[in-house]
Order: sequence, then structure tokens, then C-alpha cells
Amino acid sequence: MSLNPIRPWRNIERRQSRKIMVGNVPVGGDAPISVQTMTNTITSDVRATLDQVIRAADAGADIVRVSTPDVDSTVALREICRESPVPIVADIHFHYKRAIEAAEAGAACLRINPGNIGDAKRVAEVVKAAKDHGCSIRIGVNAGSLEKHLLEKYGEPCPDAMVESGLDHIRILQDHDFHEFKISVKASDVFLAAAAYQQLAAATDAPIHLGITEAGGLTAGTVKSAVGLGSLLWFGIGDTIRVSLSADPVEEVKVGYEILKSLGLRTRGVQIISCPSCARQGFDVIKTVEKLERRLEHIKTPMSLSIIGCVVNGPGEALMTDIGFTGGGAGNGMVYMAGKQSHKMNNDQMIDHIVELVEKRAGEIEAETVKAAE
Ligand code: SF4
Repeated sequence: MSLNPIRPWRNIERRQSRKIMVGNVPVGGDAPISVQTMTNTITSDVRATLDQVIRAADAGADIVRVSTPDVDSTVALREICRESPVPIVADIHFHYKRAIEAAEAGAACLRINPGNIGDAKRVAEVVKAAKDHGCSIRIGVNAGSLEKHLLEKYGEPCPDAMVESGLDHIRILQDHDFHEFKISVKASDVFLAAAAYQQLAAATDAPIHLGITEAGGLTAGTVKSAVGLGSLLWFGIGDTIRVSLSADPVEEVKVGYEILKSLGLRTRGVQIISCPSCARQGFDVIKTVEKLERRLEHIKTPMSLSIIGCVVNGPGEALMTDIGFTGGGAGNGMVYMAGKQSHKMNNDQMIDHIVELVEKRAGEIEAETVKAAE
């Protein structure tokens, strides 16, 4: 059956995966696709790390990962986990003791590859700690750090090698009767990552964590992630995402959300539909949108706003948005509410006016949601 019988071209049928919990956030199954980021502070600096976690959560992060390379970090993790508004994933490489300490400190999930931590006894200890403390595990395969025997077998990082690595790690957890895991097969190359994720999606029902690793700076990394993650999500693959940027983690969260919003997979805050502007514009579209984006950052209620320079596209876009503004003549534009022409507004006052209208409408939507839930 069509998911969206009126607009079937918008359908995305998600791959069926198992659902696991990362703290109180469900990942996989029918759970909303969650957005993650990672702190880049020194973890043992609890204040700085918590500040970053809180800023990321405020921007919409559902889950935040924190590096725990040493004992100081796992000690700090206790307070970070206690104070964090969102579940914390402890990022572990190789050292099984850090994994046990992180589980004891309250991490909701351990990012660790069981095949990399040594003998079976160590793996058993880590799995026991995860079970005892209700931690899930993320297996994180990375094209840049594939096991030596796989590189020898395949000659270079390739989708087959990455998926084989992932399935080997999965098998180890399953042998220990541990099933609360998700998995990623990241690469910085979009083709490699996309092919590996497609193969992985067919080979397991574990929830999938999507990411294009080391994607680059804000602009290049955003585009690369949108292409890579966007195409996979479009085909229903992916239960949680992290956009990796050489930028503030808050930017990663914003980009992650925008990717999901553009595919209709999540909604949060005001989605601004705006034109690129041209000689026909009745007001300065670019500056207006920049100001509105800043002024509306605090709105978390999903809603849409069209800011269009002239009547060529303004009324049409306004038809499909909650609130619209279309440039007109003589320093005035037209305000649309729920697709209908409402009133004229002077260009000089329109930013304050639109902010007011959005805040009011957001309040109404929230009240309607509460009433419907009752
Ligand atoms: S909507 Fe009008 S102002 Fe905006 S780009 Fe199109 S023609 Fe130009």
C-alpha cells in the first residue's frame, strides 16, 4: 500500500531493522531517525564537554558521542552522563578497560569493535559490563582502519571487505548472546560508503548508523554528506545519522536535521522556503532570510515559512507553507497565513512581524498537540 496516496513520489519505505535502545532513545524499527554528533573538547574538561553536549542537544542532537581515550576521560564521563540531557556514547578504540569503565560511568552506548580489543576473555568482560549497565554497542567499521587480514585478502578497502569486517564483529557479539548493537561502515569516499552500506543493509537486520567519515569543512562536508547520506536515506537505509564536519558539532546537528527534513524523515523548527532572489525582488531576500534564520533558531515546533522575492513564485509557495511573505511594490509585501492572502506589510517591519507571527503560530500548534494528546 502506498504510504502517501496523495503524493506517492514522496514515499520512502524504510528498511526493516531491529529496534535497540541507546539510553532512552530508540534506534531502528519504526523509531524516528536520530541525529548524533560528537564533542571535540578534552573529555576530562567536564564543564567544556558538558557545555558542548548541551549546545548540541539544544540544536536537536538526540545522542552525543564523547571520546574516552584515557582514565581521566572515563572518570569525567560519570558527571557528563549524569548531567547530560541526552544519552552519551563512549567512543573507545582498542582499550577494553576504558569500555568497562565507560559502562560503569553511565554511558548509554559503547562505540567499540569487539574484534579489536584482544582475546575472548576481554570481549566477554566488555559484553558483561554492557549487559550489567544496560549499554548498547555500536560496531564502527571504517575504511581507513580495516583489519590487516582483510586488506591482504581484498587488496584495498572495498565494500566486501568492510561488510565482512562488520559481520565478523557482529558474530562475536552474537556468540556472547549480545544483540543490542547497531553498526556503521563509514568511508570518506561517497561511492565506497554508499556501496558498503547497501551491502550491509542486505546482510543484517541490525539498526544502521550512517555517516560519511571525515567529510571535510562546513560547505564541502555538508554537500558530501547530503549526497551520501541523502541517497541512502532516500532508499530507506539508515536508522541514526552523524554528519562529520571539521566544524562546530552544532553545525553537524543542523546539517543532519536539514538532510532529514529535506527528505521529510524528521521535522523540527522552521523550514524556510526562500528564493535565490533576482532583479525582480521586492525586498532584500538574502539579508532577510539570514536575519530570520537567526531570529527563529529558538523555535522547535515544526512549521514552514516561505520568504519569496516577488509574485512570480510567492503565492504558489505560500499555498504550501504555514506562513508566507511575498515581495510586492512600493515597499510592501503580502503576508499569507495557511496559504491564504492575509494582509499587507511594510518591508521595514516585516522581520519583527514575521517572527511574531511564527512564535504565535508555534504556540498554537503546541497547544493543539497537547490537546490532541489529551
Ligand atoms: S521569486 Fe521573484 S525575486 Fe525570487 S528569484 Fe524568482 S523571480 Fe526573482
